[in-house]
Amino acid sequence: MKLKIAIQKNGRLSEKSLHLLAECGIDISNENRILKAIAKNFPLEILFLRDDDIPQYVEQGVADIGILGENEVLEKNRKIDILYRLGFASCKLCLAIPKDENYPGLSYFEGKKIATSYPMILNNFFQKHQINVQIEEIGGSVEIAPNIGISHAIFDIVSTGSTLLTNGLKPVETVLTSEAVLVARKNLSEKQKKILDQLIFRIKAVHNSAQNKYILLNAPNDKLDKIIKILPGMRAPTLLPLATPGWSSVHSVIQEDTFWEIIEQLRNLGAEGILILEIEKMIL
Ligand code: ATP
Ligand code: MG
Repeated sequence: MKLKIAIQKNGRLSEKSLHLLAECGIDISNENRILKAIAKNFPLEILFLRDDDIPQYVEQGVADIGILGENEVLEKNRKIDILYRLGFASCKLCLAIPKDENYPGLSYFEGKKIATSYPMILNNFFQKHQINVQIEEIGGSVEIAPNIGISHAIFDIVSTGSTLLTNGLKPVETVLTSEAVLVARKNLSEKQKKILDQLIFRIKAVHNSAQNKYILLNAPNDKLDKIIKILPGMRAPTLLPLATPGWSSVHSVIQEDTFWEIIEQLRNLGAEGILILEIEKMIL
């Protein structure tokens, strides 16, 4: 019994998807991405596909699970479940208009023509806001549409906004923020669910390790109470006496996003010799 996972063959998600599987300890024998590869040490078969096709193939059971952008999942609107947000390939889907135009709010779009490769997401958005627009579906290079007279505005993926700017456009509304997600088909068998649970368990361990750092520091014993309060650790920090009387070594785990703030507080409390180490894997 194997679980079949669909990942993008060639594109922004490909390397990161393979990297994630590698960090989960899954060794993929054939990386030339012809169509399929089989993991050597985990019951997983990897299918390399265009991201647009992944929702359909997962729905139909060609693949059991898949990794793709949430934007494609919502656009294709297939009967599949989003199981886990993977935190990479983040992007925004925005409405953009000619940069010299005044923007009074969503009412601007009433009766306007908007070019996009994401008609489903856009249509849902304007229906929700009860605004009538004309959606012009185009495959790529959406940002040139207003200049060549195809549309008034566009709806597309925006990362830095520089492509918009060079085409004389400005973003005015963010309709969706997207990232890579793990999806699964309905009705997996019990055996497949078990393999999937194992995979998600590993993905979580990889994520936790990326979001956390191991910290070691030396502190005077009379400050330990305060230091321990700001360093909760997994259960509680580890304390070890130093050879110098009156001092201890404190070991703990801190979150990446609170990192600098905490270091500052620790230094103010008299912590010294602070070491921060990467965590390889973290099982909670
Ligand atoms: P395919 O050939 O597989 O259909 P594609 O050209 O549709 O590939 P990519 O450009 O590789 O797709 O993007 C894949 C996904 O990466 C997007 O659907 C989106 O979720 C995400 N992404 C993140 N940042 C960006 C960006 N700046 N531009 C485009 N996509 C981005
Ligand atoms: Mg695509």
